Amino acid sequence: MQHPHLSSKLPNVGTTIFTVMSQLAAEHGAINLSQGFPDFSPPERLMDLVEKFMREGMNQYAPMMGVPALREQIAGKVNRLYGAQADPDREITVTSGATEALFVAIQASVQRGDEVIVFDPAYDSYVPAIELAGGVPVHLPLLPPDYAIDFDRLSHALSSRTQMVIINSPHNPTGSVLSPDDLGQLAELLEGTDTLLLSDEVYEHIVFDGMEHASCLSIPALRERSFGVSSFGKTYHNTGWKVGYCVAPPRLTEEFRKVHQYVTFATTTPMQYALAEFMEDASHYLELGDFYAAKRDHFRSGLEKSRFDILPCRGTYFQLLGYDRISERPDTEMGRWLTEEIGVAAIPVSVFYRDRTDTRVLRFCFAKDEFTLNRATAKLKAL
Ligand code: PMP
Ligand code: GLN
Repeated sequence: MQHPHLSSKLPNVGTTIFTVMSQLAAEHGAINLSQGFPDFSPPERLMDLVEKFMREGMNQYAPMMGVPALREQIAGKVNRLYGAQADPDREITVTSGATEALFVAIQASVQRGDEVIVFDPAYDSYVPAIELAGGVPVHLPLLPPDYAIDFDRLSHALSSRTQMVIINSPHNPTGSVLSPDDLGQLAELLEGTDTLLLSDEVYEHIVFDGMEHASCLSIPALRERSFGVSSFGKTYHNTGWKVGYCVAPPRLTEEFRKVHQYVTFATTTPMQYALAEFMEDASHYLELGDFYAAKRDHFRSGLEKSRFDILPCRGTYFQLLGYDRISERPDTEMGRWLTEEIGVAAIPVSVFYRDRTDTRVLRFCFAKDEFTLNRATAKLKAL
């Protein structure tokens, strides 16, 4: 058989690490703390609502920009939490997960040769999306131990070629969070420029120790140039539903929707109606920080007597563990070994760096029930 020649548009990209590690975990029957997803169900009532709306006939295409009731709920939430006025009709679009929103925001605004600043370690979908748009990723490091933005370096990297800066707080994989002061500094640097901000806030409700999430939507000087992206998957324990959204000023939303309508057109209908009704009560997301703080603390205390170094975790449902005292293996090998031989799967953090910086740190997802966490810590403690 003769195959047509296809030159890759993403020659440096393989299969995403989340698929690789979840598959490896399944093959070896390992406890899967690699790919980030809960091993417990969404709230019962939310699932009942999906069924209700399916039975009531909400099974055909949703409006392209999202079900009005859901966009109104999102508007109400960002107003209450971040003091942002967002017009549901002109500024809020429901997407098929945050992944779609991130991809669409980048395709809609980055042109060939435009620079986009990303901070390493960076979530793995950003750079391929920039490259498909013909943009040029400019990588800046987040500085350990706090994985903080180096604003001097950012200021030097910004130029008239910078079309976009991408930030992510709370941060996957490091669990760091940006403060209002960080956002203020960013606003100052971007003032007077045409640079856009893409703010990935999918873990907005998973912030610990009395801190509050600092949203790009809460600072007018950022809001006017931002695509603020979030996901219901993290908030309502339903990553498989793939419902997310983007809040952006009308001019940006207009361009965003031009792309969104030809990527997915619309997002799954009954889930949108169910989420809209469920969101009328805010208590679930208001209590989510405490819910996950308890899991974080449980996981960390289970590892207290282990030889892992437990890094700070201020948000998200990921815990970084350094294993310098256990092994000198590179982190990709360590992740594989841990999965195959010890029976606990984790993500090597080097994959989030363009240059594969290896600090011998692995990322563990603690969005799991106590039983799963106990089984995992028992194995990890023995190393
Ligand atoms: N951004 C970050 C930082 C994430 O961790 C994830 C997924 N876990 C996403 C975006 C994608 O979200 P979704 O599953 O809603 O597409
Ligand atoms: N965002 C999730 C993680 O960081 C996984 C998402 C995915 O599998 N694409 O683990």
